[in-house]
Amino acid sequence: MTNKASKANHIPQRQCVICKTKKEKNHMYRIVFINKQIIIDLNAQLNSYGYYICDLNNCLKKLFSWRNKKKLKTLDY
Ligand SMILES: [Zn+2]
Repeated sequence: MTNKASKANHIPQRQCVICKTKKEKNHMYRIVFINKQIIIDLNAQLNSYGYYICDLNNCLKKLFSWRNKKKLKTLDY
């Protein structure tokens, strides 16, 4: 019983923490901080709290200074 009419799937959106662009979740890059390193969680398999960015050039670069500003305290593993 497959129904091709149900095309209106709602794709969840995520907001880039850097530039605030909203995109569909599967067009965003999930970033987690592990041992104070930035990991790009390509398969969404890491359990840590993730941040989403839209772009692996500009936004990823800015993420480093963004993190330093925030001085995230959730990095103790
Ligand atoms: Zn962005």
